[in-house]
Amino acid sequence: MTDPADARTPEPAPAIEAKGGCLCGAVRFESNAFHPHVTLCHCSMCRKFHGHAGPYTTVPISRLVLNDSQGALRWYRSSASAERGFCGLCGSSLFFRSINSTQLDVAAGCLDGLTGMTTVKHIFVASKGDYYEITDELPQLPQGSDDPPA
Ligand SMILES: [Zn+2]
Ligand SMILES: [Zn+2]
Repeated sequence: MTDPADARTPEPAPAIEAKGGCLCGAVRFESNAFHPHVTLCHCSMCRKFHGHAGPYTTVPISRLVLNDSQGALRWYRSSASAERGFCGLCGSSLFFRSINSTQLDVAAGCLDGLTGMTTVKHIFVASKGDYYEITDELPQLPQGSDDPPA
């Protein structure tokens, strides 16, 4: 006989409602479906794009409301499989998405005010910068996890 606990699926983490945008305000976005967990990506591309590790939450693209009336949002194809979104007016680094993905990774630092989100892990720690140490107790993955920014 199977232990019912084995069949129990974990409760999905409750989604977060938040608004955010770039430094100058030309690119604004909001959703009620942000993932509450933030992953800090230490890969060299995130560090160059953001100036430091990339703090990503994620949201289904279909659930994101984008307000970019000036057409300021630009996309940079950073690899064969991914592109990164930023504001062409103020330079804020905002988004990461894998080509053809239905998910958009959003830099949590661009969200307004208190987010209620929690950083849960570090990824691509093998390529982190040598100018800082990771001093928390969160899991550190040498490379990516299931669907990491890269
Ligand atoms: Zn801007
Ligand atoms: Zn990265």
